[in-house]
Formats: sequence, C-alpha cells, structure tokens
Amino acid sequence: MRTVDLRSDTVTRPTSEMREAMARAQVGDDVYGEDPTVKRLEEAAAELAGKEAALFVPSGTMGNQVAVLTHTSRGNEIIVDSEAHIYYYEVGAPAVLSAVQVRPVVGLHGSEAIALFKSAVRGQDIHFPQTSLLCLENTHNRMGGTVTGTDVMQGLYGAAQELGVAVHLDGARIGNAAVALGCRISALTQWCDSVMFCLSKGLGAPVGSMLAGSSDFIARARKYRKMLGGGMRQSGILAAAGLIALRSVNRLAEDHANARLLAEKLAVVPGIKIDLDRVQTNIVVADIADTGMTAGEYVEVLRARGVLAVVFGPTTVRFVTHLDVSREDVEYAAEMVMAS
Ligand SMILES: *Cc1c(COP(=O)(O)O)cnc(C)c1O
Repeated sequence: MRTVDLRSDTVTRPTSEMREAMARAQVGDDVYGEDPTVKRLEEAAAELAGKEAALFVPSGTMGNQVAVLTHTSRGNEIIVDSEAHIYYYEVGAPAVLSAVQVRPVVGLHGSEAIALFKSAVRGQDIHFPQTSLLCLENTHNRMGGTVTGTDVMQGLYGAAQELGVAVHLDGARIGNAAVALGCRISALTQWCDSVMFCLSKGLGAPVGSMLAGSSDFIARARKYRKMLGGGMRQSGILAAAGLIALRSVNRLAEDHANARLLAEKLAVVPGIKIDLDRVQTNIVVADIADTGMTAGEYVEVLRARGVLAVVFGPTTVRFVTHLDVSREDVEYAAEMVMAS
C-alpha cells in the first residue's frame, strides 16, 4: 500500500547529492578543531544567521539546552511561551541541566507578546529569582507553524535589552519563517542574542542543528556541548550534508504551498476543522473532535489508509509537509483522509 508520511519534516532521507557529499567529505577530529567541513558549515551557518560564530550540535534539543546553559546561572528564571518546544517537549531539561525555573507565559507568541514579556520580568526583590533569559520560537510548532514578524521580534528584543534579559530564539524552522515572510533569515535573527536552527527538518539533512551567536557566546557554548556529550569527532561526514541543507532554504516554499493545498482540501471534510489563518508554513493542525474519535483513534484510522500523522492534543492531529512529499502525494493523502 502507498504511504504518505506527514508526521514530521524530520522523516526525510538524505538526497543522493547529500550522500555523495558525505562520502567525499574531508574530515578530522572536530573536538581538536580539526574538521574542515564542520568549520565550513559553522562559518556558513553564522553568516546565514548574521552572527559572529556558530556551533554544530547533534540535535535541536541540545542546541536549545546548550543555549540555556550558556545564558543563565543556577536559580535564574527564564521566560517562555506556554506552548514552546523548550518547555513542552524537551523532557524538563532546563530544570535538570541548567537548574533554572521556567516561567511559562500564555500567549507570548501573539500580538500581546511584548506587554506580556515586560510584565513577566522580575523586578528587584529579595524574594525573586533573577530573570536572565527570554526564549522565543519562530516558526511556532504548537501554534501550527505560525510566523512571528520582524516587528514583534524587534519589539521583544528591544524590551529585553532594556531590562537586561538575553534573548534566545528557538528557530528550529527559522527558514520557514523567512520564506513565509519573504525576508532573509538574518532579518529575523538580528533580533536575538542566540539562535538554534535545525538542518534535519525541512532542509533535509539527516542529522544536526546549528547554534549561532557572538564569538564569546559560542566559545562558552562549545564547552557546554562537550559537557553534554555533544563533542563529535569526524562529524564532517554529517556537516557535508548540512552544507547542502543550508543552500536549500528557498525550497521550503514548495512545502508551504503543499501544506496550504492539504489544509484547504481537509478544511471541507466533514468532521474536520482547520484554522486556515494559522496555516502559514509547512504545518497543518486539524481538530477532529466532530468525528467523535480521539486523536489517537483518528491517527490509527488514517494509518490504515496509508496517511501518517501525529497526535497533537486530545482531539488535534498534526500534518507536516517536507522534502519527501510531492504535491501529488498531498493530493493523494487528502483523498485518503476524505475517504476515512
Ligand atoms: C524539532 C524542534 C526542536 C528540537 O529539535 P530535535 O533535533 O528534534 O531535538 C526544537 N524546537 C522546535 C520548535 C522544534 O520543532
């Protein structure tokens, strides 16, 4: 049976161009700073993000957590959106690794974000922890891949700088945000102190993410990466695929068009509700409550028809378009959903 895998943009297989580049990659021991391909990747990523330096990390989670470690001290408070990946999906890491308290703020992704952030920052009081970091997410996964514009990013960064709070951007899908806005990635990342972005999602690399920031920040982050066991040896093998991934940002527009097509087709299926305003990039979130099924049951029904999606909430299901699904695959998937 034909299968269309829309669970995540992480399911892509490396292209033959990537596999060839991996086979040919010049490598060395990167913990000794001797892998030329990793160096090239780190330079290219820093340039793309408009930062002085960058660090190749095994995963987005490690990139985010190394950033939290580097920006904070034990007992600090960090402010995040209540639906942020760093808070929702990273196994409670800020508490364990950085020993910081996470302050989840509802709605920190929206138009009220600047006011909400300002009122969440702690003042001087013997009882309070020190607020040292604001974490943003763009695009925002749990909000359905929504984009935060440069104006809000700028406003938040300005407010944070005034209050002495550093800003880390979880930009796992920052390329999707830039493509949706028609701007360069650096037009967004200029409004943060550090940014993590994934090579292993829509950009199609098999493994890896980048953390970018000032030279001093990255030098300190490099030690934390080592501490967490993320110092890799001949990782130029992986970086070679990452270099190709970095060149494929513009391709993400195809994923956005496919997600739009899928959303429009699913939105008219009885029992399915989709907020089309939130379908801004490569993610489609469907509310299936009216089918009378739970999201878990619904995902199984779809699986039996060859369409793979993930449970996103009690009655919500997420579909993600990516490099390995074509427009035709999406049309087929929509037909299978309609027939379910
Ligand atoms: C996927 C993702 C991450 C983590 O990346 P991994 O490589 O899976 O650890 C972080 N933030 C967001 C928003 C993500 O979508």
